Amino acid sequence: MEKGNLNNFNKIREDFPILNQKINNYDLIYVDNSATTQKPKIVINEINNFYSKYNSNIHRSAHTLADISDKKFEDVRTKIANFINCEKTEVIFTSGATQSLNMIAFGLEDEIKENDEIVLSEMEHHANLVAWQEIAKRKKAILKFIPITKNFELDYKKAEELISNKTKVVSIIHVSNVLGTINDIEKIENFTKKVGAYFILDSTQAVPHLKINFKKINCDALVFSSHKMLGPTGVGVLIGKKKFLEKLKPSLFGGDMIDEVFLEKSTYRKAPFKFESGTPNISGVIGFGKAIEYLENIGMLNLENHEKELIKYFLEKIKEVKNFNLYGSKKIKNRIGVFSFNINGIHSHDLGSILDKNGIATRGGHHCAMPLHNKLNINSTTRISFYFYNTKDEINKIIEVLKNAKKIFDKGEFLLK
Ligand code: PMP
Repeated sequence: MEKGNLNNFNKIREDFPILNQKINNYDLIYVDNSATTQKPKIVINEINNFYSKYNSNIHRSAHTLADISDKKFEDVRTKIANFINCEKTEVIFTSGATQSLNMIAFGLEDEIKENDEIVLSEMEHHANLVAWQEIAKRKKAILKFIPITKNFELDYKKAEELISNKTKVVSIIHVSNVLGTINDIEKIENFTKKVGAYFILDSTQAVPHLKINFKKINCDALVFSSHKMLGPTGVGVLIGKKKFLEKLKPSLFGGDMIDEVFLEKSTYRKAPFKFESGTPNISGVIGFGKAIEYLENIGMLNLENHEKELIKYFLEKIKEVKNFNLYGSKKIKNRIGVFSFNINGIHSHDLGSILDKNGIATRGGHHCAMPLHNKLNINSTTRISFYFYNTKDEINKIIEVLKNAKKIFDKGEFLLK
C-alpha cells in the first residue's frame, strides 16, 4: 500500500487476498472486523517465512536460526512499545486480550480483600467481566457497575459516586465492541486516581481504531489482541506500568519465567519475562510485528479519519432503512465504526443469513456482552463493524440489502435478486 493513502481501494484490496473472492456469487463484503480483521500479505508471508526459513524456539537455543527468531521476536516488543508509546519492558505477550485480563485479575487476587469493591461497567465484554466475577467470589469482594445512559454512554455522574475509598480496582472497556462508544477515559482516570485504586483498560477495540498513547493515559495496564488489528490469532498484549508489573503476581508458572529453580522453591525473573512462561506463539508475534508495520505505514490518524468518513456515510444512509433500531450513539466524534442494530420483525440470526447470502459477512448474537443486551431489553443484535479497507460503495450495497431485508425475509428466499 502507498504510505498513508487510503483512497485507492483497489491497491488496498491487492494487499488482502481474502477480500478478492465471491461468497454466494457476490463480491465478499467483510464487515465483521470487531470479531477479527483480515490479514495483509506481509503478515501471511512473514508467518510462511518463519516456518520455511527459521523456525526455532526463542530465549534458549544457541544456534543461528534461534538467533534470528530471538531477534525478530524481541524486535516486535520494541515495535509495540513505539506504537503505543511505552517502555519495552512494559510489553507482555499473551495469547489474547482474554488471557491478558485474566492475568491481571488473578495477578491482583492477593491484593483484594473481603468487601473491597471492583468497579466495572454495564457495557463490559465477558472477558473483562467473568474473570472479575471469579475473583469477587473467591475473595468475597463486591462488584459495582457504572450504568449506561440512554445515549449509550457511561453515566459519569454515577461513576464518580460509585468510585470511592472502598474501590480497589476500576477495570473498564475503552471502546464498546457493541455500541461503538469511545469512553471518556480521562474522566474515569481522574475518579480512580483520586481514591488510589488500580485502573485497568480493556483497549481491545480501541487500539486497532485510534491512536493510543500509553504514557498519556494514567492507567496501570491496558490490553489488546493482535487479530483485531491485522495480526494473527493467538497473540495478545498486556501493557503495564513498570511499578504495576512489579506488584502484579504471575499466574502462569514454568519454563522461561524463572531465575533459579530448586526442588522446593524458585525465584522469578523481572517483567516482562516473569509473565511469559513456556513457548509463546512465536510465528504469531512475528506476524503481528508486520501488522504493526502495515498500520504505521497507513498512519493511525489517517485510519481514524477514513473510518470517520465511513461512519458519517453509514449514519446518513441508514436513514433510508425502515424499522431500523440502532443501539449506539449517532455522534460521530464519540464512536468507532461498530454498529449493532435490529430490524423490526427479523431475528438477528435471520438477518445475518440474509446478509451472508448476499456476500456480506456480519455477526449476530450478544457479541460476548450479554448483560449489556439484557440492559437494552433485547436478546441479540446484528453487528456491522468496519475497518479501513471497507468502502462507501460497500455501504451502498449493505444498505440495499437492509432496505429489502423484510421483503426478502417474508418471501423466505434470503436473496436480494
Ligand atoms: N474485549 C473486547 C472489547 C473485545 O471486543 C474482545 C474480542 N471480541 C475481547 C475483549 C477478547 O479478545 P480475545 O478474544 O482476542 O481474547
